[in-house]
Amino acid sequence: MTDIRLLSPSIINKIAAGEVIERPASVVKELMENSVDAGARRIDVAVEKGGSELVRVADDGGGIKPDQLPLAVASHATSKIASADDLFDVRTLGFRGEALASIAEISQLLLRSRHRDEPAGYQLEVRGGQAGEVTPCGCPVGTVLEVRQLFFNTPVRRKFLRATQTEMGHVTEAFIRIALVHPQVHFTLQHNDRSVYDLPAVDSWRERIVTFFGGEIGQSLIPVASDDGQIRWTGYVADPNYSRANNRMQYFFLNGRHIRDRSLQHALGEAYRGLLTSGRYPIAFFRLEMPADLVDVNVHPTKLEVRFQDGGRIYSQLLSALRQKFLGTDLTARVKPTPLPADADPAGALDPARSAQHRDELVQWAQGQLQGKPAPAGPAIQDAGSRAEPWHPAGAPSPATATRLPLDFDRAAGRAPPFRPFPDGGFAARGTPAAAPQPELGPAERGEPAHGEAGPPARPPAAHLHAAFQPAAGLQVHNRYLITENEDGVVIIDQHALHERILYEQLREKIQAGALEKQRLLVPEPVSMPPAEAAAALEAKEILAQLGIEIEPFGGDTILVSTYPAMLANFDPHEILRQIVEQLMTGGSVPERRDLLDEMLHMISCKAAIKAGDRLTPDEIASLLQQRHHYRDTHHCPHGRPTALVFTREELDKRFKRT
Ligand code: ADP
Ligand code: MG
Repeated sequence: MTDIRLLSPSIINKIAAGEVIERPASVVKELMENSVDAGARRIDVAVEKGGSELVRVADDGGGIKPDQLPLAVASHATSKIASADDLFDVRTLGFRGEALASIAEISQLLLRSRHRDEPAGYQLEVRGGQAGEVTPCGCPVGTVLEVRQLFFNTPVRRKFLRATQTEMGHVTEAFIRIALVHPQVHFTLQHNDRSVYDLPAVDSWRERIVTFFGGEIGQSLIPVASDDGQIRWTGYVADPNYSRANNRMQYFFLNGRHIRDRSLQHALGEAYRGLLTSGRYPIAFFRLEMPADLVDVNVHPTKLEVRFQDGGRIYSQLLSALRQKFLGTDLTARVKPTPLPADADPAGALDPARSAQHRDELVQWAQGQLQGKPAPAGPAIQDAGSRAEPWHPAGAPSPATATRLPLDFDRAAGRAPPFRPFPDGGFAARGTPAAAPQPELGPAERGEPAHGEAGPPARPPAAHLHAAFQPAAGLQVHNRYLITENEDGVVIIDQHALHERILYEQLREKIQAGALEKQRLLVPEPVSMPPAEAAAALEAKEILAQLGIEIEPFGGDTILVSTYPAMLANFDPHEILRQIVEQLMTGGSVPERRDLLDEMLHMISCKAAIKAGDRLTPDEIASLLQQRHHYRDTHHCPHGRPTALVFTREELDKRFKRT
């Protein structure tokens, strides 16, 4: 070991640069932030070779006085804070006074600036930390910074630069993060000699978002706002038809600065629970404004992460704002028959959650219809009451496969009729339980007035187009979709997804009211399972009881099941318990109570719901359609697939060339 020595400023700057300047995109970020802080109305960014050759940022901000130029590139020199107290009341993007010094240390930097009170401009060159003389130059008010040959004197880091395209991706992201929250500033981005973005100043944030991400997403944006007098949220989320395979399109800005915060991302995910299929992430743009003393921004070198004084408060404010908004919003999927332009989404492939294959089939089919493609055979729509052979479009399962199912499938398979309406309009369990005592009705069940009789009889659709709107009865096609109408147009419904959603909502309401029907077994049924699973089941005993499943230990690895949910009457209690335990075992750690209950609800409603392939009677169809209106959130099944698609009248008119 040698003696302890003070490090030279040059080494200190190189170390600081290592933290702040990771790649050309970091330079872009720091320089753009300085320009915003300088009050610029226009900021032009130009890069060459992904920024590794050159990053130039020019602004029309307040500029720097000539005698201050050397200070601007000196370390720990800033005009933005004066005392330690200011650190806890930061209103600018920068405040550390480190960026320019760090960049100057590891590049060839040219700083040219004219202060707004000066008649002329001045420039200063710094090469690898060695500053030259300040000399006059002609330039307009504002500042230009050119950074060439980043990492030229730290060869190891230069070697680690990625392909131009990759670096340019990062540069673009850095640019977006700043340009997105400052719609009032005109930004441009140029790569080599190509213009990437030219974003004139606009009045609203939404307009800026649309310029970046396209009108498709713009149209899907739902405004969300919340203000508790101190903390203010404003922003937009995309409706669940637009989602991403990762969370990179979730933008959070705290007091004008882009931040990343896991708990906020989590709040978003929670709000969309049940609206998106798993593995899909919501799209969101949020600005969070709060007094600067409620947050510490000085915990991360690039200030990407912050520390809130009361994270829980911010989390719940966001979550409840979103939940409230979703309750009051019709999220029914709207079909866009015209394919998206390939360039609609500059930041990546736009990917509305259209994963469900049956939905694609249906869209194809519907588009074929709308484009007037001749049907392969016969009438397009089978009346639910008739026994006509269904018509099979190209892209759907071939007639051969589909017609192999007997029309009276349920009966043919020896099962009881699919379901009957409950007093409250719900559907009872399908089939009859083996041991069939009366369901134990909860209190809410017995007293509740019936509000879900079958819908009005079918009327010819044309008769009421102009009268007060009365939906037509639905038609079933392919034994899996229901077709009906609403004020907007033609609605196509996935029968399984809708029923599943309705059951899920019913179950949830009943559980909340403590009124879930359970079926008591005449003799409790012993179920034996591996010790770990039995233990997991017993640990979740309380939750299971809420679901109507009462279990008791019965010595060894055997569990006694004494009741189970009436909705699952035609399933074997063995099987139900096993499936539930499977859920308990996956996930690894002990899941949150609410999550678990929710998982179970999903599972039960999925199992109990009518399936694709089940033929429905006209009454069943009417009842199902009626019930969509009685429950919130019926536009998506609990897994997040849409339950309904709408072809608007305008779209149909257009397609039929009526307009
Ligand atoms: P910080 O932004 O943390 O203050 P920087 O190293 O980024 O530190 O910048 C140092 C100082 O240089 C700033 O405080 C500011 O006074 C000045 N400066 C940098 N860029 C600009 C610019 N584009 N316009 C006006 N002043 C600037
Ligand atoms: Mg700065």
